[in-house]
Amino acid sequence: MKKIFLCFSVVSLFLFSCRQKETADKIFFNSKIWTGDSSQPWAEAIAIKGNKIIYIGKDFQQFKGSNTETVDLNGKLLVPGFIDNHTHFLGGGYNLASVNLRAAKTPLEFISILKIYCQQNKDDRWIQGGDWDHEAWGGELPTKEWIDSVTGDHPVFVNRYDGHMAFANSKALTLAGINKNTPVPPGGEIIKTKDGELTGVLKDEAMGLVYKVIHDPSKEELDECLQRAIQHAFENGVTQVHDMGSYGGWIDMDTYRRNYENKKLDIRIYSFVAISTWKKLDSFCKKNDKGDDMFRWGGVKGFVDGSLGSTTAWFYQPYLDAPNTSGLYVTDTTDLHNWILAADSAGLHVAVHAIGDRANDFLLNIFEEAEKRNAKDHRFRIEHAQHLTQAAITRFAQLNAIPSMQPYHAIDDGKWAYKRLDDARLKGTYAFKSLLDTKAMLTFGSDWPVAPLKPLEGIYAAVTRRTLDDKNPGGWYPEQKISVEQALKCYTTNNAYAGFQENKVGVLKPGMLADFIVLDQNILEIAPEKIKEVKVLRTIVNGKQVYERK
Ligand SMILES: [Zn+2]
Repeated sequence: MKKIFLCFSVVSLFLFSCRQKETADKIFFNSKIWTGDSSQPWAEAIAIKGNKIIYIGKDFQQFKGSNTETVDLNGKLLVPGFIDNHTHFLGGGYNLASVNLRAAKTPLEFISILKIYCQQNKDDRWIQGGDWDHEAWGGELPTKEWIDSVTGDHPVFVNRYDGHMAFANSKALTLAGINKNTPVPPGGEIIKTKDGELTGVLKDEAMGLVYKVIHDPSKEELDECLQRAIQHAFENGVTQVHDMGSYGGWIDMDTYRRNYENKKLDIRIYSFVAISTWKKLDSFCKKNDKGDDMFRWGGVKGFVDGSLGSTTAWFYQPYLDAPNTSGLYVTDTTDLHNWILAADSAGLHVAVHAIGDRANDFLLNIFEEAEKRNAKDHRFRIEHAQHLTQAAITRFAQLNAIPSMQPYHAIDDGKWAYKRLDDARLKGTYAFKSLLDTKAMLTFGSDWPVAPLKPLEGIYAAVTRRTLDDKNPGGWYPEQKISVEQALKCYTTNNAYAGFQENKVGVLKPGMLADFIVLDQNILEIAPEKIKEVKVLRTIVNGKQVYERK
């Protein structure tokens, strides 16, 4: 018996080694590869066949055949492709070609950028996007009188970069039928002068008054937005996005599907739809399943509250600079509670936006209730998880809830957050290190176009916490800084987990899908301040090189 077994082993060993020597389509060698795989953290070469990794290590020669393409990486760093956990991808693609008000550092610049844009676009099309930030000039909100005389026939409805406020000119307000007596929708705010006149600024749910009269873009326009967004993602080393939707999710998903079917979806997308439509998604999934490794769905996205910048994030205590408010919830709390439990029971993946400490606790309580009712691998996500009480920080790991955070916001909000919040609340703000210390599955992304679709800038932010105004060179709440390696994991391995894809992407080892990037500097060795200057040299998705820096 023993002999037979031995023979068998030799044969299987032989077969196994034959299989190992299959030839690669492509080998990238002479590299420093950070694999993200703790059993083999570093390697020199990676061999791929089709869309998969077949080998990673030193002895790549054995996989070289006559048709194998070899690429000498000259010692450059290769890491798993970045996954961005939170984008509004089509909106980002739209904004790439729209007016850029983020550049405005004074009201005068704001006006002149809009003026030039309107002059260059002579038709009467709606002007949207913009991503302005009134904190850049001290916090004064724009009023329609600033721009009415320079915007011609264009109706203008440009949003603050966080998407929780938007600003209309008089033409847009008229088209939307808004006047000073228009009732304020629940969960929203219409900003008026002290004499009760409209200023043009609308917050959260009130923005819907204007959005409902703006036609959604055509399919062709959406396809263009998508292709622009994909190109931009590849240039920044992003091989997958988790998309929270720009048009409620369904138009977004249709766009992705159309491009997927036309073989024009080269990036991986995990697409979420509005949680209020969970029933529709449930039926859709029962009929169509949940997609494949390139394009997946099955997630719902909700909102508890607004944003810190718009003083609509929901806190226990009032804002320091707006003592009459503690923020607000933007979705009826009973509805949201019921939708979360129902969507979760239906097997959908639940991700909900929460910024303020009270909003985060509200969600954690629901997640706890869901687990008590039905213990399973929910992987509930809190999008942003921005301001946490000390008690909340420990609950993430306990509930296996995923903090889906965007480190660039920390160095941006860090410029002015002290005006809104006291020190006690700021201590639980973007609490990356505390979350990791409690073993939470911290994940990172951008919230693009709210922040740049640039994971390297996100890593820079998480590691240095140097605010964009450079007033905190040692880091803003520096005790929350994390290491480059931890930040890399948040953008790769952990994000794969947050999308139920940890067995497919996020680490580099044989059998995994071939998603990786090459950088021009070793971010694990250079000074952290230099990370934001690092360039992506190559981006490979699903075994295909989709970008090379010229
Ligand atoms: Zn978002």
